[in-house]
Amino acid sequence: MSILVENVSKVYGKQNALDQVSFSVKPGEIVGFLGPNGAGKSTMMKIITGFIPATDGNVKVCEMDVVEKPIDVKKKIGYLAEQNPLYYDMYVREYLHFICGIYKMRDTRKRVDEIIETVGLSIEQNKKIGQLSKGYKQRVGLAQALLHDPEVLILDEPTTGLDPNQLDEIRGLIKKIGAQKTVMLSTHIMQEVEAICDRVIIINKGKIVANEKVDQMNHLFNKNLSFTIEYSGELSKAQFMKIDGVISAQNIRANAWRIECAADKEIRNELFQIAVKADLSVLGLQEEQTKLEDIFKQLTQTAEVE
Ligand code: ADP
Ligand code: MG
Repeated sequence: MSILVENVSKVYGKQNALDQVSFSVKPGEIVGFLGPNGAGKSTMMKIITGFIPATDGNVKVCEMDVVEKPIDVKKKIGYLAEQNPLYYDMYVREYLHFICGIYKMRDTRKRVDEIIETVGLSIEQNKKIGQLSKGYKQRVGLAQALLHDPEVLILDEPTTGLDPNQLDEIRGLIKKIGAQKTVMLSTHIMQEVEAICDRVIIINKGKIVANEKVDQMNHLFNKNLSFTIEYSGELSKAQFMKIDGVISAQNIRANAWRIECAADKEIRNELFQIAVKADLSVLGLQEEQTKLEDIFKQLTQTAEVE
């Protein structure tokens, strides 16, 4: 395992920020760590990187305990902290050389050149960090995390505050880098997980509420299916309600309906038959996908009720 978290709890004063958290991340996976503000994402990431100790539980990175082997673990990890702390008065190249020094790396000129190329910093490489746009600052943050060629990347909200173009670029970059590394990235944005990750771990109030492959989330929580269907003429609600498995029928506009049915019923044929009997045609039929966003709401709200 690249990351193994076992029964980790963290108490700040009286506040329980993490409560018996366990999960693992396999080599090569890109895992999204998703949760609302205050859920415990940054706390978990700081414990994995060895910046703060857990109150209870164990964390291993590349089979090494983060408390027993703090230096060896740090060699394996690239960390982009929340809000990307950087030295704004340093020049991009100067800063990257400085980071190489911290890692006691040799042949730093070649490595800095390579990393500048990898993260797409070439045109801005001679500026001061403070002069860069937020998107380029983020690239510098990624560059410093990647310099020592770590196996595992921990990225704490790497896309927060970026404009839509920068967002696409940074997501693309993370995906590209993720082809060769294990990545755990935290976010409170659903689409980000859908766009970049293989798996999602959802945390709410310090507890893991889901841990699933992204493409299997829908099936797990989507108990009902919804179709939108449009006919060439008028039909009544009663005609839909007669179909076995239909839970609700809602007239959404002119001759278009939103039909909800149990996930284990096949009603599409019936929806066509209604048209045939009424001498109408079907202009369109679409199955609605439950968005990860809905699942997230469902999960975090359920957790609140407990
Ligand atoms: P997230 O990154 O998911 O937004 P955090 O891990 O930053 O969440 O915070 C989890 C909870 O722990 C929050 O309620 C936060 O206020 C609290 N917390 C975080 N850091 C500290 C700290 N150093 N001292 C006290 N409470 C903290
Ligand atoms: Mg945070």
